[in-house]
Amino acid sequence: MKVKVLGSSGAELPGYNSPAFLIDGMVLLDAGTIGASLKEGAQWEIRDILISHAHLDHIKAIPFLADNIIIKHKRHSVTVFGTSSTLADLRRHLLNDRLWPDFTRISASIKPVLRLKSIQDGKPFRVNGYSVTAYAVNHTVPAVGYIIREDKSGRALLYTGDTGPTERIWRHAADVHVAIIEVSFPNDMEKLARMTGHLTPDLLKAELEKMQRPPAKVYVTHPKPQYIRQIRKEIAAMRKKTGVVIEILKDGETYKV
Ligand SMILES: [Zn+2]
Ligand SMILES: [Zn+2]
Repeated sequence: MKVKVLGSSGAELPGYNSPAFLIDGMVLLDAGTIGASLKEGAQWEIRDILISHAHLDHIKAIPFLADNIIIKHKRHSVTVFGTSSTLADLRRHLLNDRLWPDFTRISASIKPVLRLKSIQDGKPFRVNGYSVTAYAVNHTVPAVGYIIREDKSGRALLYTGDTGPTERIWRHAADVHVAIIEVSFPNDMEKLARMTGHLTPDLLKAELEKMQRPPAKVYVTHPKPQYIRQIRKEIAAMRKKTGVVIEILKDGETYKV
């Protein structure tokens, strides 16, 4: 499995894009960034999008992808997977013919551009050669993380999405090869992190201790670029102290799972 990071930042500044991870060119994990980072041809390859929660920094590229598909008279649909609560928010607040056209009804063929498909916490589902399960995590709005396993290789990726200290997803992480876990704030902002449903490096360390066996490789997503230097230092110190192989993701890079 190859994961291309279209964005992995907890805020937008030049060079820092909102979270979106393209798996093997076809399946997008969160959709904070698409058109700002992917050329047209590569955008047409995306057929499935897994959404962790309805916050704007994780969904905001979807309306523009739909628009690009229509502009070029492309006839395919993109399936957007999320919990019923997340999809209801997308319908009610975004694709509502006010903020943006309702692309679940618009199409260049008989198929609509966007198809919303509701998923259930803890219930595996199939996406184009992968087995995927969502687990509820602890954020300020209903949110899930995902475990994605490629049928062909058996390799598995865990992605937390946005979360504060949480429990359930770690119980299913025993045979995961790579984890992408959020760390938004530095250690001295723990109060704000907890209040807003996010992690610090110290809180991440406590989360890793909840796992039977931490994955071979841990990547950090969602750091606030305003505090990136401090977070970088604290993650480096943690790596030294715990021996966990951990690094902060870089936008534009491709990682092997
Ligand atoms: Zn969020
Ligand atoms: Zn976020």
